[in-house]
Amino acid sequence: MLRDTNGSAKAPAPQGRGRITKIVLRHSGRRRTSPAGARRGKAKVLVAHQDDEAHVELPAYGFSDDLEEELRGASISATVVADGLGAPQKAVGDNHLGRDELWRTRRRESIKAAKKAGLSEITFLDYPSDVLRDVRIGQPTFDIQEDLTDGKDPYDALFTHSCFDRHPTHRSIFERAVKACLMMPPEQRPRVLLAGEVWCDHEWVAEAWRVRFDISAGLRLARRVLRCFPSQTEVRPYHIGAAARWIAHAVYEDTHGVQNTRAVAYALNMTPLIQDPPMSLAEYIANVLAQSMFFDYPLLGVSSDDIRQAFSPMTFGSNFNSTVARRKNHAGNHLLQHRGRRSPSGNGHHRLASR
Ligand SMILES: [Zn+2]
Repeated sequence: MLRDTNGSAKAPAPQGRGRITKIVLRHSGRRRTSPAGARRGKAKVLVAHQDDEAHVELPAYGFSDDLEEELRGASISATVVADGLGAPQKAVGDNHLGRDELWRTRRRESIKAAKKAGLSEITFLDYPSDVLRDVRIGQPTFDIQEDLTDGKDPYDALFTHSCFDRHPTHRSIFERAVKACLMMPPEQRPRVLLAGEVWCDHEWVAEAWRVRFDISAGLRLARRVLRCFPSQTEVRPYHIGAAARWIAHAVYEDTHGVQNTRAVAYALNMTPLIQDPPMSLAEYIANVLAQSMFFDYPLLGVSSDDIRQAFSPMTFGSNFNSTVARRKNHAGNHLLQHRGRRSPSGNGHHRLASR
């Protein structure tokens, strides 16, 4: 493992083995200060890619009164685990960035954003995505564990990717973060583990499992931070999408009230996964799903308990297996089945709903 502590972004891109670079950021942006008399907490943002921290850390910026006292104005450091070389590029020909230039560009953007957001430190681990997704390679997890045990006090909060994120590298960072925490003695683990919304949304999650952040006061800064990544936003306007999501959360938050927030972000509370003893991931996901989207439909004679019953592991397991088998046999009927037309052999959706 190479170590580069001078923070230079002039070096060539790493050659697929990982390389730790820790950069202390002296120039802090505008951040909220801790309430008078409160201990200044510390939080870590652990993300896959250079621009992810802008999404995941947003709730941690300290603008939200929904944070507990010591996390408001907490010292926040970020760790970016992947080298970012798998990023799609729009520019072709002379404008197409070579490997080294893409790497340097993404690093420069990330440091600029971190300064703007007022982070105290940013660390890059520079692992290729395929290494991170290969569970046989343990080194990235050990590096994450080392990063989380830096300093004598445990982190008050760790923000990372969600187990519901659709991006496979994001999920592998989620897995490695949980694994790294479980390898630590319980007293050294972060007090809370929160997951941000990047390639997933947490609006649907029951209040028992999510944390709400009113980020109205931080929306302007968040937009400025999100605009620090032109190499990514020219391909896909994440800065518009992320802000639109937070604004939409605020609009659709309360079905019967008058709106009094401009922007709301939701984090999934994954703390049970790193407690002692930890909740298993399967149990955690089943609990979150079972408590989130099940309503009562009295006119149709279906209660939320009926749905939970249908969702029990036995039923879900047998239906799921038979659904997969039928999809393989009737791949062409797939769309019709989703639109509610019953194929000759029926399908798992109808069965699940009718029980
Ligand atoms: Zn990402």
